[in-house]
Amino acid sequence: MGVARVISQRMIKMTEGGSAIRAMFEEGARMAAQFGRENVYDFSLGNPNIPAPEKVRESIVRIASETDPMELHGYMSNAGYPEVRAKVAASLNRRFGADFNEDNILMTVGAAGGLNVLLQTLLDPGDEVLVFAPYFLEYGNYVSNFGGVLKAIPANIEGNFQPDAQALREAITPKTKALLLNNPNNPTGVIYTEETIRAIAAVLEEKQAEYGHPVYLISDEPYRELAYDGRKVPWLTGFYRNTLVGTSWSKSLSLPGERIGYVVVPSACDDAKLIFDAAVIANRILGFVNAPSLQQRVVAECLEEQTDVAAYDKNRRALYEGLTDAGFEAVYPDGAFYLWVKTPEDDRQFCDRAKKHRILVVPGASFACPGYVRIAYCVSFDMIRRSLPAFRALAEECGLSK
Ligand code: PLP
Repeated sequence: MGVARVISQRMIKMTEGGSAIRAMFEEGARMAAQFGRENVYDFSLGNPNIPAPEKVRESIVRIASETDPMELHGYMSNAGYPEVRAKVAASLNRRFGADFNEDNILMTVGAAGGLNVLLQTLLDPGDEVLVFAPYFLEYGNYVSNFGGVLKAIPANIEGNFQPDAQALREAITPKTKALLLNNPNNPTGVIYTEETIRAIAAVLEEKQAEYGHPVYLISDEPYRELAYDGRKVPWLTGFYRNTLVGTSWSKSLSLPGERIGYVVVPSACDDAKLIFDAAVIANRILGFVNAPSLQQRVVAECLEEQTDVAAYDKNRRALYEGLTDAGFEAVYPDGAFYLWVKTPEDDRQFCDRAKKHRILVVPGASFACPGYVRIAYCVSFDMIRRSLPAFRALAEECGLSK
């Protein structure tokens, strides 16, 4: 019996897609075994290299040893512990002058869990979700999980990858249920400015009035805390009423494996109560049930903690300077920990060429934007330093050297 009869057609496609990522992992491991780990420059993964703040470990140990196990490990409200949600709300109010309470916060299994919860809550089969390219390609899977259709708005290359509100106006249709916005952006490292956000909000306002139904703005912002040069990341609920936020502590506290994040459903949203109640059910029936109990308590104690942004900043500067000196053209990142580099040839071909120099990077095609590569600089500074001669040799081979 062929494989087509065993697993779903949709999963066959995803398995094929997933094997490209697996192949990259395997390639990294193979190269490390062959050349020694220190001689392979693996910039492919967005896995933070900075340890979680010490307070996270202290909180885990203390909470685990001091809390009654029945209380610590049991089920709770599917939305999460009320006192944790209240603390998250208070922290947002302090930081952004918002007015949230525990009924606006749903604890989730990372940002990915939160986005899936929101999309299950909003989408009927055939509903469209818009996104500006380049974007985190998993969005396509998240949207199709619920029968939705992800439509990409082409990258605004001339506008230095700031989303173009006019392009949104051209792409939006009465079937558009939501716009997914990721700020700071993976893969470009660009922070969408207040001006950009205002222009997007104006189009959404105009269109939802025209269509007579809400168009939600879903803000995916796990990189919010990673902003450089004093740059501010606009807090979107202040710009557009129908904003829903999905985020996590995966990058801001280096906890991606712990799967802890949250969703914000502001009371000002159209049908806020309905959305929140449905999202709680989605959290349950997607099989998450609730966010991890220990981690909820831990993050509630670590809301003021910060990762070492200065270390990422040092990497950012060294890599940008090193690569542009070598002759590459790159977007100077405002946030996150990615450098977005223009390729002098087809991006997949360039990635293969880079491998010969023991450099692993991700093709722009993996973010719906060929002609670029993403370099994740959440790696040791030492690796960046050691990799620069390899990048220089790569530039020379491509005829770029200055
Ligand atoms: N959104 C973007 C843009 C990401 O880059 C990632 C992870 O890399 C996620 C969502 C998922 O984050 P989490 O690990 O918190 O689920």
